Order: sequence, then structure tokens, then C-alpha cells
Amino acid sequence: MKTFPLSKDELETLTKQYPTPFYLYDEAAIRRNARAVLQAFSIFPAFKQHYAVKALPNPFILKILADEGFGADCSSLPELLLADMAGLAGEDIMFTSNETPAPEYRKALELGAVVNLDDYTHIAFLERCAAIPPLISCRYNPGPLKGGNVIIGAPEEAKYGFTRDQLFAGFSLLRDKGALRFALHTMVASNELNLDYHLETARLLFELAVELDTRIGIRLEFVNLGGGIGIPYRPDQEGIEYTRLAEGLKGLYDKIIRPAGLDPLGIHTEWGRVITGPYGWLVSRAIHRKSIYREYIGLDASMADLMRPGLYGAYHHITIAGKETAAETETYDVVGSLCENNDKFAIQRRLPPIQTGDLAIIHDAGAHGRAMGFNYNGKLRCGELLLRPGGSIKLIRRAETVEDYFATLDLQKLKTFF
Ligand SMILES: *Cc1c(COP(=O)(O)O)cnc(C)c1O
Repeated sequence: MKTFPLSKDELETLTKQYPTPFYLYDEAAIRRNARAVLQAFSIFPAFKQHYAVKALPNPFILKILADEGFGADCSSLPELLLADMAGLAGEDIMFTSNETPAPEYRKALELGAVVNLDDYTHIAFLERCAAIPPLISCRYNPGPLKGGNVIIGAPEEAKYGFTRDQLFAGFSLLRDKGALRFALHTMVASNELNLDYHLETARLLFELAVELDTRIGIRLEFVNLGGGIGIPYRPDQEGIEYTRLAEGLKGLYDKIIRPAGLDPLGIHTEWGRVITGPYGWLVSRAIHRKSIYREYIGLDASMADLMRPGLYGAYHHITIAGKETAAETETYDVVGSLCENNDKFAIQRRLPPIQTGDLAIIHDAGAHGRAMGFNYNGKLRCGELLLRPGGSIKLIRRAETVEDYFATLDLQKLKTFF
């Protein structure tokens, strides 16, 4: 059963102050979730979770997570600045980028972030544009050793990371160039709900950690398992339990890392989706009903606010405020206003009868939701609200205005240009 923290009346009152559409995030639920992660992983000698900023790039959220003890995982200059705004610095920040521009490497080093190199050639690139820092991480692409995942695809076809051979050469080169502390990263899955898939990834990294030590004397300080823990978007799916994941990883750690004498080895993660995804909702109003070859419900939100259904055919559960338990007697396509026929939040979805004016709540939108928004078709991205633990609701990002949309144009110049 998917839940939403406000009653229909509370939501109607809220929309008088903040017209739909908007995102709402539940701070208490996010904090509880962060604590559950840290509790489950406290069985490791050293654990650090770096929240993937791209999932919900709002400094208010990052500050909440930093307060709970999370770091940040950044992949661009603005994401580094967001981590900085949240008060994070130094090794609390992982910089996992690819095809990285030189100024972004410079900023990462300036903040003292852990640079995670995506390619062998970036060793020379980083040295040219800044310097090789004492602590350096490399991203591994296991290629044919690892099966594919729906969103990222087969590792062999993925653009990320070093091959195995390149890692051995890369760490040796980095040591020659003065690096003193080393870490290994991989990220081969996205939204993966299969526990064994994640354990298998960890096994690959642990075995590689042992091989790096025995073959070339590179003793890793930590391994970073990346992001990619799935969430149950569909009501009949089950999430991954942190305790089962942590215990599974600990079993591998005790079997592979300890006997090799590599204990303590830090375990790092870069989870985004599982941290905030279930605790954010896109709230929208049905403004049209249309009956042609199919029945359509037109919302005041569009794919420009939440791209996942249009981009990957992703499922997002929808409930109608006040009709949570009503019988699902109708079949609708629930759509937005973009001039693109994939602007559909749901296709042929069973739902209770919907009238114009009803509030539609789109669930599990707290990660890769507002963050993926865009301005195509002149759409203005909606704002973000935070439900505080005491029950008050605060605006943490206002909705865009037409002035924002035109802000990058010099309209004075247009008047005299031709
Ligand atoms: C996207 C991404 C993450 C976060 O992924 P989630 O699926 O949100 O957990 C972490 N690390 C890297 C390198 C990523 O690209």
C-alpha cells in the first residue's frame, strides 16, 4: 500500500498557498531511512554513504542528509557547489564523473573531494590540469564478467570505467606519480531490486582488492559499491532490506577480505534513489478529461516535471486524494500537456473514476524526479516543498517563472539587433 503523508483536506488547503503541481518531500521519513542505513551498516569497521546529488539536487535535502552523517557523490561543478552549500567538504565528497572537463577536476581537488577517475587517460589529464592527489579512486568496468541491468545495460556496452588490465596499470602509474592512498569503485546497476546482483558486484570488487594487493602491492583503503539499489515502484514489488544487504556483504567481507589480511577495508556507497525516492511525491491536479479512442486524464504536471515514465516507460504509482480505497473501475492514460505523445504518467492504468479538479499524487518521485526536469515546450519546472518533522510545510525551491525561462536571453539586444 503506497502512502502519502497528508489527508485530502490538508492537501487542498496546501494548494491554496502553493498551486499544483509541486513536489513534496517528507523530512522525518528521509531521516528515519538514513538512520536505518547507518544502523544496518554499522557492522563494518568503516562505512560511508555518499548521497548521489543528481537524484535530488536540493541543498536543503543535502543538509538534512549531511546532518544524519551522509556525504555526497557529485559528478559536475554545480553538484560540487551544492555539496559545498550543504556544508560538506573533503573526503565526505566523492567526485564520480566521466568525460570530465578540467575546471571540474580543479574544483573537486580544491574542495578536497575524493576524485574517482573514469578512465586510464584521465590520470595524465588530471595531472596536467591540476595534480595527482594523495588519495585517488578508480572506477572499474567489469565488462563481460557481469550481467546487464535494464537501465545501465550490459557493462561491456557501458561507457564507464577502466578495464581490469587498465586498473592494474592505472594504480601502478598513480603510485609512481605520488599517490599514497587508493580506492576502487564500480557502478553497474541502476534501480536493481535483486539482492544477489548487488552481492555479486561486491564479490567482484573484494576479489579485485585482494588481487591488487597480491599482484602489485596496492592496498585499498576502501571500495565504493556505487549506487543502484532499487525501490519498489510497483505496489507488488519488494524493496531490498538494508540488514540483509549488509549481512550478505559482511559474509563476503569475512570470506574474502579478512583472510587476505585486508581488514579494515572501508565500504562506501553512493545511493540516491533508495534514500529519497519513496519519500517524495509529485502532486498535480486533473484539469481535463478527454474521451476519444481511449480515456484520458490531463494533469497540470507534465513530463517536464517527471521524465521517468516518458524516458524509460517507468512505472510510478498514482493515487487520487480522497479516493485511495475507491474501486479501480476505470482505465485511463494519465497525461501531461507536452506536444510529445510519450508525455504519459500512466498508460492504460486501472484507477478509480477521476473528475477534473481531483488531486493526483504520483508516488516514489523523490529521486530522479524534479532533478530530471527540463524546459522543452516552454514548460516551467515546478517547485519543491518540505514536510518538516513537526508537521509544518516549507518551500525549499520555488516554481520557475517566465522570467526564469527568459533569463538567459538578452532581450535589450534583440530590440536593436536586426
Ligand atoms: C546515478 C549514480 C548514482 C546513484 O544511483 P541511484 O540509482 O540513485 O542509487 C551513484 N553513482 C553514480 C556514479 C551514478 O551515476
